[in-house]
Amino acid sequence: MSQAEKQALGFQTEVKQLLHLMVHALYSNREIFLRELISNASDACDKLRFEAIAKPALLEEDPDLKVKISYDEQANSLTLEDNGIGMSRDDVIANLGTIARSGTAEFLQQLTGDQKKDSGLIGQFGVGFYSAFIVADEVTVETRKAGLTAEEGVRWTSKGDGEFTVETINKPGRGTKITLTLKDDAKEYANGYRLRNIIQKYSDHIGLPIQLQKDVEVEGDEAEAADQATAVEWETINKANALWTRSKNEIKDEEYQEFYKHVAHDFEDPLAWSHNKVEGKQEYTSLLYIPKRAPFDLYQREVPRGLKLYVQRVFILDNAEQFLPLYLRFIKGVVDSSDLPLNISREILQQNPQIDSMKSALTKRVLSLLDKMTDDQDKYYEFWKEFGQVLKEGPGEDFANRERIAGLLRFSSTEQSEQRVSLADYVSRMKEGQDKIYYLIGESLAQVKSSPHLEVFRKKGIEVLLLTDRIDEWLMSHLNEFDGKALVDVARGDLDLGSLDTEEDKKAQEEATETKKDLLERIKKSLEERVSEVRVSTRLTDSPAVLVIGAGDLGLQMRKILEASGQQVPDSKPILEINPNHPLVERLEAEAQEANFTDLASLLCDQAALAAGESLEDPGQFVQRLNRLLLELAGK
Ligand code: ADP
Ligand code: MG
Repeated sequence: MSQAEKQALGFQTEVKQLLHLMVHALYSNREIFLRELISNASDACDKLRFEAIAKPALLEEDPDLKVKISYDEQANSLTLEDNGIGMSRDDVIANLGTIARSGTAEFLQQLTGDQKKDSGLIGQFGVGFYSAFIVADEVTVETRKAGLTAEEGVRWTSKGDGEFTVETINKPGRGTKITLTLKDDAKEYANGYRLRNIIQKYSDHIGLPIQLQKDVEVEGDEAEAADQATAVEWETINKANALWTRSKNEIKDEEYQEFYKHVAHDFEDPLAWSHNKVEGKQEYTSLLYIPKRAPFDLYQREVPRGLKLYVQRVFILDNAEQFLPLYLRFIKGVVDSSDLPLNISREILQQNPQIDSMKSALTKRVLSLLDKMTDDQDKYYEFWKEFGQVLKEGPGEDFANRERIAGLLRFSSTEQSEQRVSLADYVSRMKEGQDKIYYLIGESLAQVKSSPHLEVFRKKGIEVLLLTDRIDEWLMSHLNEFDGKALVDVARGDLDLGSLDTEEDKKAQEEATETKKDLLERIKKSLEERVSEVRVSTRLTDSPAVLVIGAGDLGLQMRKILEASGQQVPDSKPILEINPNHPLVERLEAEAQEANFTDLASLLCDQAALAAGESLEDPGQFVQRLNRLLLELAGK
């Protein structure tokens, strides 16, 4: 097939779905299509400027990069033209026919057709180029990649209904020209006054001129109009200074917000940002944003992420992941260095002491920004709900900032069900004589709240943090203390309540251990396979028994994580602690028949395992034992 032939191709299924849903979901905010197209044109110019560092010839005779926007009220059309990097035929088919982001299909399934809900979701996804179809019946893209000849231009057209066509055309100028044939109800976008307003709103932060066609008499005749194109006067609408290069006190919040949408490909405003210029040994400017919402692929490890890197205002790299640790991967923004070489590559970034020191400074910036955000607890909670899980990766990844990150963590506790308790809050509520921070890890809030482990704490009125996220056990294994106070898992090892334990408590336990010696031995023997030790508990007031994890053993969460990743989990048996004063334990002690004794002891152990959120190895046997007991109680 000759390349010049017109080829009709189908959109990838995901694109079709997106096109269909988007037009509906974004209807009330249609003007954003212009932001997306300007953003793309600006990216294209950035890319060309970068490539031209090594190959200046790419700029041809046309070195002044810009975006020109014109319209035709009579034809009800709108055109955006940039002289950026452009696209080859293959680029066009890939970029304007598919969505390359993995997980897109799953994401689209979440869209419901409910405009309000969907617009939020689509916002975090970013619809980009395809948003043109919110206002256009037909979109034509004419483009030529920098470095290719005029004969290698491409025309792409689509009505947004499932298909597009591509054909090879002659295009003398490099770059991309997009023409929208507007829908009848979108005529307002072929109007100079309206366009000027939107462009101003969406492009003041863009670092290259965005020009609008000045109102001139447009003749009806098409040929003449084309002739006139050269005579058209252009007016630069935006400030055309990259936002971060301007001084802070000149920049309005709205401008910061718009710039965020451009760099982050997000539709929503950011939650917070921090803009800083560093001078001295190293010189760079950073503008870092915290998004409002976590992207759907935040936990997909292979997804590229990171800051946009500029060197002396020249765009160098997208997703430069070397400037922030992984646990801050949700941060969006730019870093512009004055002293890195322009020809820096991803590889060089990897082993560069200068980058390391920038990384450490930028990390501190983000942590300070978050710290400042905690002043407004509701706002911080909004952040925490979206990104708290990721921040919890911090202490394990970033040893140096462990204490600072710890200060930013939020937990549920026996005092507060929402994850709003900071370690500092906890410390401020500690009991007289309490010198440790207690926590309990489990599967769900409901499960931990009724855990036997909390009984003694409830009795003594001591707060316990309740940790139910998958990552919590791992997190706590990296956080040994906060504010000089040890963090203690109440379900693990010997429970040392320090001076919170009264003399009577201690004495009672010693006595019970002595008087129940035989019973403990007997239980140990009958449960040998399942527990490493049987002892008298200081933890219980109401329950008959509880399982305790050995001091150095893996907890349930870690075991599950390891098992799920196919790793060998070391064998470890828990400790069974019994409540010597509980009637069931007394009943057990009185049982002379060995078979019955084993039944009862096993039941105690099973219920303790269930209360800890474990699944039983032999649930059928548990049920049989329970039923025997119930029947016995019923006198049958
Ligand atoms: P994104 O900008 O998030 O990558 P878009 O849907 O906005 O997604 O654009 C898809 C791709 O199409 C871009 O990544 C780019 O490769 C290409 N593209 C879009 N517009 C232009 C343009 N004006 N010049 C060159 N390439 C473009
Ligand atoms: Mg885009």
